[in-house]
Parts: sequence; C-alpha cells; structure tokens
Amino acid sequence: MKTILIKINTQNIDETKIQQAKQFILNHECVAMPTETVYGLAANAFSPQAISRIFEAKGRPSDNPLIVHISDEAMLLDCIDQEITLEIRTIMNAFWPGPLTLVFKKSHRIPDVVSAGLPTVGIRMPNHPIALALIKASCVPLAAPSANISGKPSPTKASHVYDDLNGKIAAIIEADQSHIGVESTVLDVSTSPFTVLRKGGISIEQLQMIDADIKYDDALVNNISTPKSPGQKYKHYAPSKPMLLLEGSLENQLAYLKTISMDDILLISVDEIIQNINVPHYFSLGSRHDFEKAMNGLFEILRESEFLSISSLIVTAFEDYGLGATLNDRLRKAASEKINL
Ligand code: AMP
Ligand code: MG
Repeated sequence: MKTILIKINTQNIDETKIQQAKQFILNHECVAMPTETVYGLAANAFSPQAISRIFEAKGRPSDNPLIVHISDEAMLLDCIDQEITLEIRTIMNAFWPGPLTLVFKKSHRIPDVVSAGLPTVGIRMPNHPIALALIKASCVPLAAPSANISGKPSPTKASHVYDDLNGKIAAIIEADQSHIGVESTVLDVSTSPFTVLRKGGISIEQLQMIDADIKYDDALVNNISTPKSPGQKYKHYAPSKPMLLLEGSLENQLAYLKTISMDDILLISVDEIIQNINVPHYFSLGSRHDFEKAMNGLFEILRESEFLSISSLIVTAFEDYGLGATLNDRLRKAASEKINL
C-alpha cells in the first residue's frame, strides 16, 4: 500500500487537507494523526473493518482494547451506556480536552473489536487542533492507539510513524512534535471508587485534587493482581538493544555508574548525574525534577538509540511521585534488566 503524507500546519490548519484525511477515514482506512500525547493511528470507531486494519498494521494483540477519541459531548453519548454523574462531569471539566482517558460502560454502537470484548470503552477528548478537526470533519469518533509497531516506543513525531508504518497504512498527517510525549492516564469511572488503570500524562495527585477517593488499580501497586487494563501486561516501549534501569537514590545511581565501564553504552539520565560523571555517550532528559521535560524527550531518545553505535543503554529512574511515577512506569516496561540500588 502507498502511504500518503499530508502536511498540515497546526497554527494555520488547511481545511482541504483535513478533508483529504477524512476521505480515508470514511473509506474505512487508517490515518496517523498528531495528538498532544503521542501520534495516534486513527480509524472509524464504529467500523469493525476499519478497526481490524489498526490491529493488523500495528501487530497489536487482539485482547488489547483501543481508546476512542471524541470532539464533543454528543459523540461521548453515542459511545457510552452510563449516566454522567456530577463526579464524572467534574473530572471531565477539569481535564478534557487533555491526556486523560475515561473508561465507561460501552454502548451497543462500539464494536467488540474496539473494546477487545470488554463491556467498557475508554474515551478521550484530545487537546490538539488537528486531531479535533479530523474527528469533527469525519462525524464519527476515531479509535486511535499509538501509531507504532506494537512493543516499540510510542511515536512523538511523524517521522517515527513513517519509520514503523510506511506502506502499511493509508496516510500520515505530518505536523509538529507531540508536546506531552507520553500516553494518556486511563481512569476507570465505570465502577466506584474510580481507579487509575494506566499511569500517563495526568498524575494521580492531580486527579486526587478533584476527587480524593481516586486510587490505583491493585495491579499498579503489586505484581500479583491481574491488571484491569489489558495493555498493562505487555512488554512495551522497548528499544532493540538491551536496556538496564537503575532504581534508587541519585547518590546510589551515581556511585554505581562510577564503578562500570561505559565505553559502548549510552547513558540516558538527568543533568544532576551527567554533570558529575565522565562518559562518552550520554543524553540528558533535563533536570531531575522537570518531569514534563523528561516525558517530552524520552520516547524520542529511546528510538534514536537504535541508530547509535552503542551496544546497550543504561537509564536512571526518577523519584516516584507525580509524573515521575509515569516516567518510571514507561522505563520499567522498556527495560530488559533492573537493578535496585
Ligand atoms: P494505547 O492505545 O497504546 O494508548 O493503549 C491503550 C491503553 O488503554 C491500553 O493499556 C489498554 O489496555 C487501555 N484500555 C483501553 N480501553 C480500555 C478499557 N475499556 N478497559 C481497560 N483498559 C482499557
Ligand atoms: Mg501504545
């Protein structure tokens, strides 16, 4: 299949380009689109034929449900079979549009392939003018997982999508880099109390400021429970080279790094470590408490490490609070080995 590139300027959206992308959606094809979290692989959420193309292009396991993207509340009501209570509305008002997916009881209009057979559906209103314009123009919600081959780091640039999916999908919308850089937080509001099923662009502390009862799904705090979010059980975000994750205090991470030969290893860490060690190959994600900056650069450097002449990677974990917990979640899933210092 020939993949068409559609270049759109986020600051000055050309409506004819949106119409061009919409035609592919209406023909049950997949279109990669920019969102503020990562690039998504979008298709008509009401069309099982279109949805099967997403799973095929990504090589995604069929038991991993897709997030459905909407542009307004009317679309939400088409997708769910659940009352929007005051508690849910308060959360929607605080975080939509934005990097928060809400899991509701699904309506009959959502095909089982989208929800991977679950009675619920994850819904998000993205905070990106191009994604919103494409959803609006298509007049249907768009199911859109991250636009990467399953298992690889999520794409934060159109070129990452091209590297993974050229020849496998109808079109790629080329726009700017995703400014958040990691996926949405998934919050289950289909049962009470509401539970976080996946860490993401909104921290649990931010959610608890709106609703103090929100907690993590048991599987996110222990290794025994079965995750309620099927995607949590898969290996994810992994570069092709071995990656060692160092957990523990900054002092212990630094002391460990000083004991080993780093000749053909890429160190991905923070300024506070990199300024205090002499290694040939390094990349700083920024200051250790600037979690937003680190999220913005993480997937890109994991992808770029493929092209560097190094044999493996060492990454240092962050402090485990706020969005640091999201960063650590992605690092733990990407790592082939971990050391607790
Ligand atoms: P991705 O599309 O790559 O951002 O992954 C979507 C994530 O949301 C996966 O971890 C899914 O398992 C999770 N998810 C989507 N829909 C549901 C749902 N109905 N219930 C639980 N988790 C969901
Ligand atoms: Mg993904």
